[in-house]
Amino acid sequence: MLRSVFLAAAGSARMERLVSSVPVTKGIVQRFVAGEGVDDALRASRVLADDGLAVSLDHLGEDTLTEEQATATRDHYLALLGRLKGAGLTPAAEVSLKLSAVGQKLDDRLAFDHASAICAAAAEAGTTVTLDAEDHTTTDSTLEILADLRKDYPGTGAVLQAYLRRTEGDCRDLATAGSRVRLCKGAYAEPESVAYQSALDVDKAYVRCLNILMSGEGYPMVATHDPRLVAIAEDRARWFDRRSDEFEFQMLYGVRPEEQARLAAAGHTVRVYVPFGDQWYGYLMRRLAERPANVAFFGKALTSKK
Ligand SMILES: Cc1cc2nc3c(=O)[nH]c(=O)nc-3n(C[C@H](O)[C@H](O)[C@H](O)COP(=O)(O)OP(=O)(O)OC[C@H]3O[C@@H](n4cnc5c(N)ncnc54)[C@H](O)[C@@H]3O)c2cc1C
Repeated sequence: MLRSVFLAAAGSARMERLVSSVPVTKGIVQRFVAGEGVDDALRASRVLADDGLAVSLDHLGEDTLTEEQATATRDHYLALLGRLKGAGLTPAAEVSLKLSAVGQKLDDRLAFDHASAICAAAAEAGTTVTLDAEDHTTTDSTLEILADLRKDYPGTGAVLQAYLRRTEGDCRDLATAGSRVRLCKGAYAEPESVAYQSALDVDKAYVRCLNILMSGEGYPMVATHDPRLVAIAEDRARWFDRRSDEFEFQMLYGVRPEEQARLAAAGHTVRVYVPFGDQWYGYLMRRLAERPANVAFFGKALTSKK
């Protein structure tokens, strides 16, 4: 119930104006978002890298509705990749990209051209790009653009959402040599016709997808904070004899940092997804939808005098 309220709020311009105008929300924003500028993102990446963690940086922003905004987002990424290289943070730092932020809703070709320029800059910086997964109406277009990008930039990563009924098939298609695939549960409000609705069904689907990716020839990126799924992934890695450079764990900035450290200390590759930028509203609402404790924290921030 709360989940659907927050996911509906994520798409509401009125709520966005209200929440973004309340400065105390910065407290909770800081927990999940590295900051508004590139310097903040670099600082957070440096701290994580010093702790032996890899990162994927996401310049926040989605559903771009003008060509100018799409071009500006591309330019933000090009500048970010230059800075990452200059700071010696690549290849441990890569970037995550939402195609909707570079014009997917306007024109697939525009999104492809911008994504391609970002992949070229990433290659130049010695690192990679992963295409985030958004709501199910974008999945076909995103996977088509991914296939085209991989012709020139084979290291470009995909994201698959276990809650979508189609995803086992997509895992089979993408479990090929050199293919980087991030598997997550999925963060959007989706109808029953396309997505499993109960937490149990989503978890079972996640394990089926994980089995396909871990037994395949690609590079699985296990993106979850769920202790049971992390334990199952560790088990599958042992079973399929995957070394620490043959798969990785991924978690979000600010979520279960002790578990991130534990997995890294156990010898696993762990990548932290680090969002930054001033367009944090939709991202924050999805994090609040995921966990009741986060909602209480948010409520306290809104009512606090500080
Ligand atoms: C690196 C990364 C990238 C992602 N990219 C995408 C994407 O491109 N598209 C997309 O749709 N979604 C993406 N997601 C979000 C994902 O789909 C889920 O919505 C999100 O990860 C929550 O699911 P979960 O697997 O952590 O399990 P949940 O069911 O949310 O949590 C399971 C359990 O994990 C533990 N847990 C969760 N949060 C916390 C917390 N804050 N503190 C302590 N314990 C906690 C609790 O034990 C909880 O019961 C991404 C997630 C990650 C980690």
